[in-house]
Order: sequence, then structure tokens, then C-alpha cells
Amino acid sequence: MAHWLLQANPDAYRIFDALADTGAIRTWTVARYRHDIAVGDEFALWASGQKSGVYAFGVVTEPAEQQPGDPDRYWQDPASGNRPTWRVGIRIDDVLNTPILRGEISSDPALVNTAILRMPGGGNPFPLTEAEWQAILSHRAERTSDQVRPGRNPTWARDELILALELYLRRRRHLPGADDPDVQELSAFLNSLPIHTVRPDLERFRNPNGVALKLANFAALDPQYPGAGMRAGGRLDAVVWDRFAPRPDELGHVVETIRNAAAASLLPSVPEADEEEFEADEGRLLTRLHRRRERSAALVKRKKDAVHKAHGTLSCEVCGFDFARRYGDLGAGFIEAHHILPLATAGTTTTRLADLALVCSNCHRMLHRAKPWMTPATLQTQLA
Ligand SMILES: [Zn+2]
Ligand SMILES: [Zn+2]
Repeated sequence: MAHWLLQANPDAYRIFDALADTGAIRTWTVARYRHDIAVGDEFALWASGQKSGVYAFGVVTEPAEQQPGDPDRYWQDPASGNRPTWRVGIRIDDVLNTPILRGEISSDPALVNTAILRMPGGGNPFPLTEAEWQAILSHRAERTSDQVRPGRNPTWARDELILALELYLRRRRHLPGADDPDVQELSAFLNSLPIHTVRPDLERFRNPNGVALKLANFAALDPQYPGAGMRAGGRLDAVVWDRFAPRPDELGHVVETIRNAAAASLLPSVPEADEEEFEADEGRLLTRLHRRRERSAALVKRKKDAVHKAHGTLSCEVCGFDFARRYGDLGAGFIEAHHILPLATAGTTTTRLADLALVCSNCHRMLHRAKPWMTPATLQTQLA
């Protein structure tokens, strides 16, 4: 594996803006060493100019190929990005908070002879010897050890992935970056949702870069996405993709319901104790809303009164279980209510008595345990 230094010229390319936009940099021009630079090679990214130095690190993901152009919005002059050139696919893995500036490099005996210092006009890529690479890595290591890194933020919940997938499908032809208004709106919205109360790294929690990166994770799952070298996300990304990408209408309903419920301040902020196990496909916020509704004491009482008046008993609509018959006085008047409308439909509407089914506690848990949630009628057909 070889090591390289890739040079960016801020006068031609807004490298600092591009580095702030996670996932924006996906290719790099190579004017020489086209057959020596290979997938898996690591590189340091050097910016020239007044504050020249190493600003980031990354890895080569695609071999050099002649490409028609690079419609990247960070070119100072868009025309210069549209010339056909040889480019490699790359991925930036680490952007330094404190760059390794030229003065620091040139005062290190191990780096004083690097090509970038001796022949900065040489053109990309600049080869690094193994000793030079190790020296650069030790400069990087000094930084990582004295920067106190905050803890990791929680992984994306189903609801958050659903919202990001909806944006991805709308914008998949030209993936938006961190500076896009839709990305910034989603970032702000995710920050407003009562899903994660613990956010160890508040500054980066679902920030525009994180949202843009999540869109790139979906691109990695999308067989229709033309680009390559996208980094895959977590397992739940694929679950949400499989469930909703083929059903954009349903996805749209779920997103609309979450957004409407949020706008009406209806989303419960207190988590259910067992919400991991019983979370619906539609995510935990709509699940909480569902469960809070069906526990509404006044509504459940009206439903039970109506059924008792009509039938003289209260029995499970799925299995027929009757608490009064089994437990005597202790069970008299007891049964649970389940809201039967799909979560995305039930969203912000008022619950009617007809939207509730009376079920025993066992059947109620089973209804919620299936994914997607079952209707009482379907569960009835599955009774052993
Ligand atoms: Zn039952
Ligand atoms: Zn229920």
C-alpha cells in the first residue's frame, strides 16, 4: 500500500468549505502516477496558500479513470470542474480540528525533504515515503490525544431514518450537501424531536453534515444511484430502506403525520419503558402517540361502557378471553383497548370509539409485537 499527499489550491477550489461538508469530496484529480495510486492507499490532504498544511486524511476508493468532469459546487470557476480529467475515487475519513501547518512540517527532520515542500508545483498526487507517512501520522496523533473528544451520539432511530429517507428520495438525482436548505431544515427538525434525551456531542448531534452523510448512506443502498464509493450506514438503515423505499406514498404519509404531530405539539416526550420491543415500523414517536391514545382513560371507559351495554360482557375481540369469567370480581370491567387505525392515518385525528378494539392483555401485546403491526382480524386467523 502506497501513501500520498493530495494538494488542493483554495484559489481554484473552496477546499475548506468542501471539508466542512461531509461526503462532498468523492473524487480527486490525478495528473501523474495514475497506475501507481490504488484502491486502499491512504493519503493526507494538503491545502496550499497562506495557511498551507495538512488538513485531512482519507483513503482511495476507486482506481484512476478518465472522467468527463466533476460537477462539484466548490469550484471557484464551475468551468474548471467540468474539464475531462483523470480522477480517483476518494473518501475523507478525518478532518483535523487543528491542521498540521507548513511550519510544523518543515521543522520536522523526517519531513523536510517531502516533495510538497521541494516541488509544490508538481501536480497531484505527491508520493510519500513510508518514513514521511509515519512522521505525518505522529503529528496527527499528537492532536488526537490532547483534544478531548466528546462521547458518541446515539445511533439514528427509525423515525429519524424515515425522515432522512424521505428527503433522500426527493433529492436522489443530485444529493444535497450540508449547505442545502432542506438538509438544514431536517437537521433542525431532528434536533427538536423528543427521541434522544442523551446527546453527548451536542454540537454534532444530527448537524447538517451528519444529515448529508446519512443521505450518502442511503445512496449506498440505492441500486439506482449512479455514483460509487458511498459508505454504508448501520443495519437499521437497510431495514428502513427495504420497508419504505418501495412505498413512497406510505413513507410520505408517515413523514407528514410525524411533522403534523410535532407542529401540534402532540408527540409524547416520555419514552415507554418497553418501546424498543414494541416499536412500530413507523418509529417510536408515532408508537408513543398510539399507546398514549389507547390508554386515554375517558375514551376507554366510553368504549367499554358501549360494548358492555350492547353485549352484557367484555371479551377480547381476538381470542374471546373474558376477565370477569376467569378472575371473577377481580377481573370485572377489565379489558384493554387497541387503536386499530394505521399509525400514519391515526396521526393527528381525534380517536372515535369505532377506532378502538377491546382486546385482552396477551392479544394486545401480540398485536404490537408483529412488524408491521397486525390488525385484530389478522391475529385472529393466526391463533393456534
Ligand atoms: Zn385475547
Ligand atoms: Zn395498541
